[in-house]
Amino acid sequence: MENYDVLIVGASTSGCWFAYQMAKRGHSVLVVEKELPEKVSRAYDIFHMSKAEIDEFDLQLPEEGDPVREFAFGSSPMWSPYGNYPKQGADFPTVGFHKHDYIMLMAERARQAGAKILYGAPFKDLLFDEQGKVVGAIYQGVDGSEQKAYAKIVADCSGIPAVARTKLPATSVVDNQKTGANDILYVVLYYINYVDKSVDPRSLDGFFMQYKSWSAPAGGGYDAILGIGAGHSFAYAEEVFKSQFLKNVKRPEFTVGKIERGLTPYKRSLYSFVDDGFIAIGDSACLTKPTSGEGCTSSLVLGKIAVEVISDLLKSGSPLTKENMWSINSRYMKAQGKDFDSLRPLLYGLIAISFDEAEYFFKNDVLFSQKILAGATNGIQLDNSDISAIIKGILKGIFTGKIKISTVSRVLKGLSQSSKIGKLYDNYPASPADFAEWKKKTDAVWKKIGSVMDTCDPEILKRVNK
Ligand SMILES: Cc1cc2nc3c(=O)[nH]c(=O)nc-3n(C[C@H](O)[C@H](O)[C@H](O)COP(=O)(O)OP(=O)(O)OC[C@H]3O[C@@H](n4cnc5c(N)ncnc54)[C@H](O)[C@@H]3O)c2cc1C
Repeated sequence: MENYDVLIVGASTSGCWFAYQMAKRGHSVLVVEKELPEKVSRAYDIFHMSKAEIDEFDLQLPEEGDPVREFAFGSSPMWSPYGNYPKQGADFPTVGFHKHDYIMLMAERARQAGAKILYGAPFKDLLFDEQGKVVGAIYQGVDGSEQKAYAKIVADCSGIPAVARTKLPATSVVDNQKTGANDILYVVLYYINYVDKSVDPRSLDGFFMQYKSWSAPAGGGYDAILGIGAGHSFAYAEEVFKSQFLKNVKRPEFTVGKIERGLTPYKRSLYSFVDDGFIAIGDSACLTKPTSGEGCTSSLVLGKIAVEVISDLLKSGSPLTKENMWSINSRYMKAQGKDFDSLRPLLYGLIAISFDEAEYFFKNDVLFSQKILAGATNGIQLDNSDISAIIKGILKGIFTGKIKISTVSRVLKGLSQSSKIGKLYDNYPASPADFAEWKKKTDAVWKKIGSVMDTCDPEILKRVNK
């Protein structure tokens, strides 16, 4: 019988990071990964993280020239829907890496710290004791045999499939439902080269919120990645890219070298990440950024809190019950959960703004203003004069016929739902005893907010569904 302090399901970014952090603190760690090493994280090649996040989460930063590291870049602007009014974002030095190779680096560091990683060993089921506490997992051994491993805590780091979380009973404080098709962002990446070699690709980089599209460095001999994320399906995302983004935002002629497709969760995070002997981290817990759908580093905000709490409990010999680990939930909600999830309804409201209306706001520096967009990633401080400028700008737009009243009311609805979610998360229950009542109230608000699917364009949906 194998016994560990920590059993982790999944050896991608979340799993390898958690394995390293726990092993480094002297705890015994087993990671089971369903793929063989060469197949881990092959859906897309390039991902990036800011240097500040790399420092904050004690991640590796390979030297310039290391083949894992592809490029570095600074800030890039948010663009208006017709590409006329760039608003420069805050400067975040960022590094692009080859994802598979970076994960192999993370795995090696975890192994050197003492973690054991089994590849080609898919998780099959959770093991429970008579009280219903998680005590380990069943996985398929490398030789195909059924194996059992016992652990004081099982961490689900299996990404969107959440293979362990979905084996919890319906009575668990952790949601055991699968992340459904309506709560996923379908991401398509086009690796392109401009035909005219005098084009400076970096001058065209940036994010186009109205299409959830962007242009970013690609490395590897490509001028740029043009990316798009959307609800519903890859076909829907590709149709928005072709019929809206490429039509409205003029790009110099380019050729497409390769296309990659990947999925990322796009919904509120779990309400509770912990139960007796259990935690969910990463995409399995829906911890992606509401603005971009990126999750490698945002999931580590929860991870960092979890490492502190769980390591202290293990060192003091205290059981890893949901009561003892509840501070992971409440601290996360304060640190990031409230900010991320209260932003979602407002974003859904902003997406409802038509291209012409958004262009007006960008042009007049209202709502999509330099100050708001530059502060969006590290906190916006609006004073009374800013608020009165926003109100004046909106009123002027309505009186001149540039802005529809229905748009204003959709944005106001988003704002009001954001504020409701913010207040609920401020009052996150201090212990599991008060959780059921809080969940009931919070569920009622989310039901009205809907999902990213509700922001899809009905005309494009009709074409795609034909
Ligand atoms: C196109 C695209 C680009 C992105 N770019 C960025 C970016 O630049 N920066 C960023 O921060 N985020 C980015 N993201 C988001 C990022 O990919 C995810 O948030 C992140 O990979 C989540 O990591 P994870 O370890 O939680 O899950 P995953 O990376 O999904 O890993 C889960 C692991 O669990 C394993 N597994 C699954 N089932 C089982 C099983 N039964 N038994 C054992 N193991 C199992 C899988 O094989 C996998 O290795 C991007 C997403 C997409 C789609």
